[in-house]
Amino acid sequence: MGSYQKFYDQSITQPDAFWASQAARIDWVKPFRKVCDFSKPPFARWFVGGETNICYNAIDRHLATRADQNALVWISSEVEQTKKYTYRDLFDEVNRFAAVLKTLGVGKGDRVLIYMPMIPEAVFAMLATVRIGAIHSVVFGGFAAASLAARIDDAQPKVMITADAGSRMGKIIPLKPLTDESIKLSRSPPKYVVIVNRGLDKGMSTIPGRDMDYSVLRNKHLDDVVPCEWVESSHPSYILYTSGTTGKPKGVQRDTGGYAVALAASMPNIFATQPGQVYFCTSDIGWVVGHSYIIYAPLINGSTTIMYDGLPIRPDAGVWWNIVEQYKVSVMFSSPTAIRVLKKHDPAYLKKYDVSSLRYLFLAGEPLDQPTSDWIEKGLGVKVIDNYWQTETGWPILSAEPGIEETPRKLGSPSFASYGYKLKLKHEETGRQVGPNEKGVLCIVPPLPPGCMSTIWGDDARFVKTYFTTFKDEQVYTTFDWATCDADGYYFIMGRTDDVINVAGHRLGTREIEEAVQMHSNIAEVAVIGVADQLKGQVPVAFAVVKDTSKIGTPALAAAHEKEVMAMVDKELGAIGRPSHVYFVTLLPKTRSGKLLRRAIQALCEGRDTGDLTTMEDPAALEQLKAAIAK
Ligand code: ATP
Ligand code: MG
Repeated sequence: MGSYQKFYDQSITQPDAFWASQAARIDWVKPFRKVCDFSKPPFARWFVGGETNICYNAIDRHLATRADQNALVWISSEVEQTKKYTYRDLFDEVNRFAAVLKTLGVGKGDRVLIYMPMIPEAVFAMLATVRIGAIHSVVFGGFAAASLAARIDDAQPKVMITADAGSRMGKIIPLKPLTDESIKLSRSPPKYVVIVNRGLDKGMSTIPGRDMDYSVLRNKHLDDVVPCEWVESSHPSYILYTSGTTGKPKGVQRDTGGYAVALAASMPNIFATQPGQVYFCTSDIGWVVGHSYIIYAPLINGSTTIMYDGLPIRPDAGVWWNIVEQYKVSVMFSSPTAIRVLKKHDPAYLKKYDVSSLRYLFLAGEPLDQPTSDWIEKGLGVKVIDNYWQTETGWPILSAEPGIEETPRKLGSPSFASYGYKLKLKHEETGRQVGPNEKGVLCIVPPLPPGCMSTIWGDDARFVKTYFTTFKDEQVYTTFDWATCDADGYYFIMGRTDDVINVAGHRLGTREIEEAVQMHSNIAEVAVIGVADQLKGQVPVAFAVVKDTSKIGTPALAAAHEKEVMAMVDKELGAIGRPSHVYFVTLLPKTRSGKLLRRAIQALCEGRDTGDLTTMEDPAALEQLKAAIAK
């Protein structure tokens, strides 16, 4: 039996002993009396009675040993600036921000809504909020006013923190006007708006009495030290709304102790990262990956975290590898989408810099296709580790765990269950546990491990109903993803349960069809959706981005190319999966976090309303699809 298998087994058979030992990785001001209280299923409380503070664990406790080590290195290719903060600097800045929040009346349990670009002050604000026992809700800076207003209404913040503007592709994106508009739209506006004025939007207007300039407030508290508010382990640390790919966003509520322990454990165990090493997560602080792996986990671990503001291709597609060389990055965390963007550029960039310090590249958020995985792994000469999780869980559900054991990887699989996760693949209708290689709905047998959501903010009933009532035979957490598991325990994610289409009585995952289409050498990216069809119920339709556009240069060429793609699906999957149409486009509609907006594409194809699209990366993508269908 491998050492990871032993580690995992212990987490399942003796969870109390296992998690008690992991809990020793963080500092508690008061020890917990019970590891897990599961007396009111499906609600779980971890480390009951224990008192701690996440900010203390992320900063204060490191001051004795690593005060002069870089905690946060901020690099912006947007405004061409780099700023470095040691643990001592970070301590000072967070205390200033905490003092400001306190003077504005923010206290334990109050919500602070953070709507900011990728700047260091966003990190200070988040850490300051948890330092004083308040609860942050970070809303991704790309959201428009209506989405922001909905989140304000749900979280009811006392204070909102924003900036004059962000920058994207060198273009200034004002945030303050959106903040103003969202507050107008909202039913429970915050009392104060704190603005980090970067001087990017010269025309910014302010509302006296409500709007506060952060630099003015900060100057009044330069030497303040604000004691950490010790909170009970279950005290909420933050609310984070899911991407909304499948519907109305859910306010995921996270606790304090369980989350800190889960993240502290994941750094050595999963990410094989030691204190003092440099960790570079390319996500955005507005997403769960950014919360966990730009900020909290690396800092709790005493590592140096790199925060990157900008695109992976500006000034050129070597920018990330340049950072790796310069800061001797040890481990990176990014997304398949980002790698696909790089893949459209010269592979020579992968060889231009010395990336020998880099040991692993973790990728998550979307299915990782084999060509993309191969391209980056061979190009960089670095191990790629696909890992699978959700906003709801806060850390990987499935991953290889190289910190425990180097295990063989299987392409297309995010490997096996992380310790603490008791997984079950259930048959969609009968609920029975499926056999090896049989498709089922991926479920977690509760209690959800530490770090996972404790409830939906303000709505326990919705939490239970949404996640725990899919199956009548037992109360399990549903991920709403399809998966298979092979005889070696490796999982393969087949797509979301609502992405399954029914073609003449056959149930097919859109992911399977997408993979078949992608086997064609000229396809860079593809989205397959099911469209209502009178005869067959549903038919698959594909939207594909080609690598070499000269191959679809004329209608005749495009038609021939479409036939080739269809033939590829016939060969890989069978004629039943063959798309009725393959439309060629240059762009697919995605959320700003890189997730395909299948729901919107489907609505478009069926002539329905496409719904809320404020998270969409580039509206031009949907226009292209419309034009392609119209043709
Ligand atoms: P909403 O729940 O509001 O619809 P969302 O599910 O897109 O939004 P996230 O929590 O950010 O929001 O995304 C989690 C989902 O992303 C997973 O349920 C899964 O479908 C997909 N996913 C994440 N990582 C992987 C991976 N490694 N392989 C395949 N799919 C993944
Ligand atoms: Mg989801």
